[in-house]
Amino acid sequence: MLIQEMCHNYEMLQDEIAQGSIYPEVDAETIRAHLSSRYDFSRKMTLDEVIDDVEKMLQQWQVQVTHPRYLGLSNPSVTLASVIADTIVAMYNPQLANWRTSPAANEIERHTLAWLIAKYGLPPESIASFTSGGTEANLSAVVLALTRAFPGYGENGIQSVGAIPSIYLTTEAHNGYNKIAHVVGIGRKALRTVATDESLRLDVDDLARRVAEDRRSGFLPFMVIGTAGTTAAGVIDPLLEIGQFCREHKLWFHADAAWGGAAIISPVLRRYLAGIETADSITCDAHKWLSVPMGAGMLFCRHPDTIAEAFRVDVTYMPGKGRGPVVDPLTSSLQWSRRFIGLKLFMTLAECGESGYVAMIEQQARLGQVFRELLIASDWLILNETPLPLVCFTRRGLDISRFLSLLRERQIAWMTEARVGDSAVVRACITSFRTTESDLHRVVNEMNRLIDDKVMTD
Ligand SMILES: *Cc1c(COP(=O)(O)O)cnc(C)c1O
Repeated sequence: MLIQEMCHNYEMLQDEIAQGSIYPEVDAETIRAHLSSRYDFSRKMTLDEVIDDVEKMLQQWQVQVTHPRYLGLSNPSVTLASVIADTIVAMYNPQLANWRTSPAANEIERHTLAWLIAKYGLPPESIASFTSGGTEANLSAVVLALTRAFPGYGENGIQSVGAIPSIYLTTEAHNGYNKIAHVVGIGRKALRTVATDESLRLDVDDLARRVAEDRRSGFLPFMVIGTAGTTAAGVIDPLLEIGQFCREHKLWFHADAAWGGAAIISPVLRRYLAGIETADSITCDAHKWLSVPMGAGMLFCRHPDTIAEAFRVDVTYMPGKGRGPVVDPLTSSLQWSRRFIGLKLFMTLAECGESGYVAMIEQQARLGQVFRELLIASDWLILNETPLPLVCFTRRGLDISRFLSLLRERQIAWMTEARVGDSAVVRACITSFRTTESDLHRVVNEMNRLIDDKVMTD
């Protein structure tokens, strides 16, 4: 009964969202005035009344990321199974910090992650955990790499290392590493920029040069980030070559596949991630291309000993360790109290099967190709190269910010501006199983009309 009702509400809401607007016209004052007029909390409200009002606010006043023409920043439409999973989790409120408290939830997560450990070609003894998102996973990877490279780091801190430990990445890598370098205490200047080739992939010769130079000038190189699906342009760094370089030079290889990593489950797309199996650690977000609600990141690491060292704690007040070969999330990841994040991925996978998931990913990759072809056919210029459904495009003389505002105001589509090399581009990314080919035809037709009607020129 409950499930039927939820199915019904889910379908109804998704239809409503698809018919409605993508982009809200609202300012902070409007929302604040609404909140202060209704919610000084002196009056009790019925739950029905609160739900009605909250849903109204969310429907009116946000970018609808589950709209089929939201071609945005890797925020997916979400499966019914994942929505129900998040509700079940809230109702049972399992505490996953240690295995003994929530054996079922812990084993469901372990089982789900083992499926991906095998897909990534990592050794079976690898440790994986769900995280709040890609940023927590990337932060954990940097902590692990520091712990392995500098045995004194954990006890005596970064100052005991004696010089600046350095991380190698390109300008296309995720901007979050700036915050991460700040937080772990190596400082933002510890991020060393490696040149890219003409397709924006990390240039391994330049990496070799910079690592050698930095060693001579007193840096302590310890980690290289290879991105598998850059945020701006969907570029996949040469993972095999990076892995080989890292092995030869004893550097930690982190594959940041926050978005593109889902491609590993597709027999067609996985070859583009070749070399990811050599990574010391991998980040992949289920909340980006695996169609579950935020926050659901994942971190995979092939070194159980480093995990144990980095996240060790002695606690006397937690229930005893689980019996047998079990892992307590408390001592193998950053979080302490921990939500049952993995259930939404598990339930979607169980309902759709692996083949259903593969079909979703491949369909979206195909739509990316359709979108590219439609654009080329009407004289748009494509500036990025990727097998992933992310298209960066422009045309001569286009005022991008005005163009994007028009797309939003007229509810044509939601896209963003990005940079590819030196060029500003319009960036469109398909990560919704609700987007159809006819949505893309409509978007390109309406974009062309804006150009033909010269709406773009003052
Ligand atoms: C999105 C993204 C991140 C950050 O992940 P969050 O889940 O937003 O914290 C990191 N790296 C890459 C390549 C990404 O695309």
